[in-house]
Amino acid sequence: MASRPSTQRRRASVQFGSRTDIGCVREHNEDSLVVAPPLYAVADGMGGHAAGEVASEIAVRTLAANAPDHADTKALGDAVIRANYDVINAAQEKGRTGMGTTITAAVLDGPRLAIAQVGDSRAYLLHQGVMQQITRDHSLMADLLEAGEITQEEARVHPQRSVITRALGSDPGMQPDLYEINVSAGDRLLLCSDGLTTMLEDDEIERLLNRTRNPQRAASILVNEAISAGGHDNVTVVVVDVEGNAVAQEKKARRHGRLWAVAISLALIAVVCGIVGGVYNYSQGLAYLKAENGYVAVYRGVEGEVFGRSLSSLDHVTDVSVDDLTPHTAERLKNGVITKESLQAANDVVEQYRQQISEEQSQDTSASDDSSSSSSTTSSGKASSGSAKASGKTSSEDSSS
Ligand code: MG
Repeated sequence: MASRPSTQRRRASVQFGSRTDIGCVREHNEDSLVVAPPLYAVADGMGGHAAGEVASEIAVRTLAANAPDHADTKALGDAVIRANYDVINAAQEKGRTGMGTTITAAVLDGPRLAIAQVGDSRAYLLHQGVMQQITRDHSLMADLLEAGEITQEEARVHPQRSVITRALGSDPGMQPDLYEINVSAGDRLLLCSDGLTTMLEDDEIERLLNRTRNPQRAASILVNEAISAGGHDNVTVVVVDVEGNAVAQEKKARRHGRLWAVAISLALIAVVCGIVGGVYNYSQGLAYLKAENGYVAVYRGVEGEVFGRSLSSLDHVTDVSVDDLTPHTAERLKNGVITKESLQAANDVVEQYRQQISEEQSQDTSASDDSSSSSSTTSSGKASSGSAKASGKTSSEDSSS
């Protein structure tokens, strides 16, 4: 019977699937499993009269209650040893001598995989499409194979193929085999009872694992295939993808990328603001002259704007009429600006304009004194015009103050 403890510590980044089935021959399903990320386990009970069912369930419950939440191999082994004690005690209390179970337990914590194993349930790792058995069976067949006394084909049909040499439930001094390995993004962990491996050869299991992307679907297909092949035993499968870790790493990388993008953007904004601020501060030391309603006006800054902010402000409108200036200067002021390096320099230029106008008027007056009375009307007309503009100056200064 499958066991799924309520105290599951699911990690969203891990993808897994599982399935257990009674098979086609047995009256009970004596297998149990745990899927409580980062802990995964398969246990295959034995003992007859449902004793195996009890043994495997006690084992996985004790395991789930005591297993570490990170890939601590020793702590995982200690949890299996404690499960052994509990199965032994239960067997004694219930008078079920011979009750026992295998157990293959795994803790997958990031790139680290810890495994504790007793019996002939197995752990495989599919890495870059190639499946390798991580655990070594504690079985008579494994001993004979290692001794070179039988072949794989002979082991598959050997009359003692179900004899295991180590299990939980009998020896208080039992020690699990421990494995600690590194796994990579894209790897796939398979835990299974012998109901799978006695029905399907490793090559077929590898092919099915490679063919099926979804881990839950992979677990179901493996069980279905074992049943289709005869289903002589209970069959239990847990498939765990390390792809979830890849997704987590991808998200982490994207998150770091976003943080860098934000940091770079803020730095660029700071640089741009610094440049704009510097330009603005520099521009405010400059000044320019421009025609304003026919008179020369003095502005602080430079003409134009940045991000909607004007870089200049009117300082004052002078009494200097643009039309009294030389044609060339008047044209420049009407069609553009005359930029100076400071407000003082701009005011100096205005003063020069006044002097030029004054000198010109003095020359005109002298010329008028020397000329005939018929021509004085013209000089008088111009002086009168200058006076009118002087009146305009007072008005302009009032309006600009
Ligand atoms: Mg079995």
